[in-house]
Amino acid sequence: MLEVKKFTFNPFSENTFIISNKLNDAIIIDPGCYYKEEQKVIDDYVSQNSLKIHAVLHTHSHLDHMFGTAYIIENYNVNLWIHKNDEITYESFEKVCDVYGIPNIQFPQKSPLFFNADNRININDIEFQILNVPGHSPGHVAFYNKENNFVINGDCLFENSIGRTDLPGGNHDQLLKSIKENLFVLPDQTIVYTGHGNETTIGKEKRTNSFLL
Ligand SMILES: [Zn+2]
Repeated sequence: MLEVKKFTFNPFSENTFIISNKLNDAIIIDPGCYYKEEQKVIDDYVSQNSLKIHAVLHTHSHLDHMFGTAYIIENYNVNLWIHKNDEITYESFEKVCDVYGIPNIQFPQKSPLFFNADNRININDIEFQILNVPGHSPGHVAFYNKENNFVINGDCLFENSIGRTDLPGGNHDQLLKSIKENLFVLPDQTIVYTGHGNETTIGKEKRTNSFLL
């Protein structure tokens, strides 16, 4: 049984997730902790639950999803995993922060690792099927865990909305195709954890999402 803990961080109200198992092994997905106080919220949760953080995963590497990545990598001495096709997004982090006028950012010193071609990742028995869902960014992925009935889907599908596609590498038709072919094939009761806002389910979005009807 996996535990999914959600935090909402930074001026973009981004959702950061810590996934842990019964043995207190854990990974962090999309660490958006920007402020020192937000980084402390993560550290406090980790120490209060005696977690061992083993890796950082990105659904995609937009700035609001990786403000805290360098901090987590260094503080917990772990690797970052991203999709190869999102390397271009990752590499533009500092430039994009500059465009947005965001000060005091940290860029990871250690190069990221890329997901394997088999589209599975297993870190200390925390296992995900990696779904390729490009459109919001070129290498956007979603992390699906069948046994625990949830998918961490970043900025692809939202509660009655979908990700924006006006940023570099965005593609609206591709996003719709990703959702229909790679998310809407999951069981209806699958819980969808989104990069911003509330959780939803595949079934609810299939029935009511006005962008996809
Ligand atoms: Zn994004």
